[in-house]
Amino acid sequence: MRLIFLAPLIVVLASPLVAQVEPQWQVHDTLRPRPRVVSVAALPSDAIVLFDGKDLSAWRSAPGGAAPWRVRDGFVEVVPRSGDIETARSFGDVQMHIEWATPAEVTAAGQDRGNSGVFMMGLYELQILDSYRNRTYADGQAAAIYGQHPPLVNVSRPPGEWQTYDIVFRRPRFDPTGALTSPARMTVFHNGVLVQNDVELHGATAHMRRAVYTAHADRLPIRLQDHGNRTRFRNIWVREIE
Ligand code: MG
Repeated sequence: MRLIFLAPLIVVLASPLVAQVEPQWQVHDTLRPRPRVVSVAALPSDAIVLFDGKDLSAWRSAPGGAAPWRVRDGFVEVVPRSGDIETARSFGDVQMHIEWATPAEVTAAGQDRGNSGVFMMGLYELQILDSYRNRTYADGQAAAIYGQHPPLVNVSRPPGEWQTYDIVFRRPRFDPTGALTSPARMTVFHNGVLVQNDVELHGATAHMRRAVYTAHADRLPIRLQDHGNRTRFRNIWVREIE
């Protein structure tokens, strides 16, 4: 008789191991909806283009007004001390592609060498820096989740060369009282190499202090940082994750 009462307990204890199973579908179920078709030419057919080398119509100045950075020869360059720019549209969970190049001429060191950043939802910074033979703190080098997670490896190309970030961002979730129910997560490929593997973010990016979460909207603009360096960008697009 005792075994009968033990059986449900075993099922409960084992349940975390089967949490990924989706019980509504059989294996190879022909009724299961198939993923929609996405074709890829220069970029995925369902990508939202944020910058195609021509203009900053998808962007605005973060403090307000038109985006003040300089567009020429198919790229946009930070105008130092003109302020950050952000997307006119707001986004939550996204896949993002962005190409960037730090100044070819090296005139500074550490955090002052080609510093910029991609702030997901305007709050969570993926660092951009010239980290080619340029020493700085690990959680502040290129491809770091700034102040939180150093990249797994340093894949930086020499200054002036174009580099890529491919980002998968999952926004944080908050309950109606504003309490965090699930932290933000990020996966990043730098020049095609995995540098952030589904890491959990500690909170909104902060300088010289621990990050914390404050409840915010499900969608917010993506922001690019003016850190006083003439870093360049091109070919920026996102795909919204359903
Ligand atoms: Mg930065």
